[in-house]
Amino acid sequence: MIREIQVKSALSRSGLRELDYSLNPYLGCRFSCTYCYARYFSPREVGERWGEVILVKRNLLDVLKREVKVKKKGVVGVSTITDPYQPVENEFRLTRESVKLLLENRFRVSIQTKSPLVLRDLDLLIKYKDRVDVGMTITTMNPEKARELEPLAPLPQARVETLKRLKESGIEVWMFLGPVIPGNDFSRVLEEASKIGVRVVYDVLNYYPGLPFKPVSKSAWKEVEEQIRKMCKELGVQCHSEEEDWIQETKRRYNPLF
Ligand code: SF4
Repeated sequence: MIREIQVKSALSRSGLRELDYSLNPYLGCRFSCTYCYARYFSPREVGERWGEVILVKRNLLDVLKREVKVKKKGVVGVSTITDPYQPVENEFRLTRESVKLLLENRFRVSIQTKSPLVLRDLDLLIKYKDRVDVGMTITTMNPEKARELEPLAPLPQARVETLKRLKESGIEVWMFLGPVIPGNDFSRVLEEASKIGVRVVYDVLNYYPGLPFKPVSKSAWKEVEEQIRKMCKELGVQCHSEEEDWIQETKRRYNPLF
């Protein structure tokens, strides 16, 4: 079910340290990942029927046009509690128009998605490539496992191809290996990262009661993280945890060219 809503603000202060703001053109996400905790940060009707109810912020662009003139410039994460290039974007194009507005007004944009639809906006990304980066989330390369974890998201191979195309176009890209679910084939994901030549940001499974996973203990995570680090070293992949990504982002933010 798709429903249009009106909003009072477009840019929210981000809870993620590497971002200044987040922008979510939609509430809810059709990709319906089983591990997704965005449902707990969404309106009740969306969270309870995760993947089935999508709210479209109909007046988002009008609000954003005002905000880009008065808010302090910074890094905007697109998006943090929805996939900005989920199917509804084909029709409403709120992500494209928001990204365009932000870039035209000298904000930096960090896109994270699982969808090749981002390639539709390649013209825009190329034009502003000094101030944009795109992350593609890949949790497994196994298509059956992906269908189980991310029932309606594009398959991992399509995401790999998207990353390649973006990289060839000169866009700064990264791969988000997350959540890392112990027992998953992260080695194949890292091999793909090595072939493309893309840096990897990894993160542990964030456990919320109600999700169909067990919390990962600190010791189990330490072991998995050591394996990831070792494999990255062997493959020559630059990889870091989300925490370290924040440190890098901070350095970039204070780059005089920004
Ligand atoms: S694509 Fe992202 S926002 Fe959408 S359901 Fe999956 S994890 Fe959640």
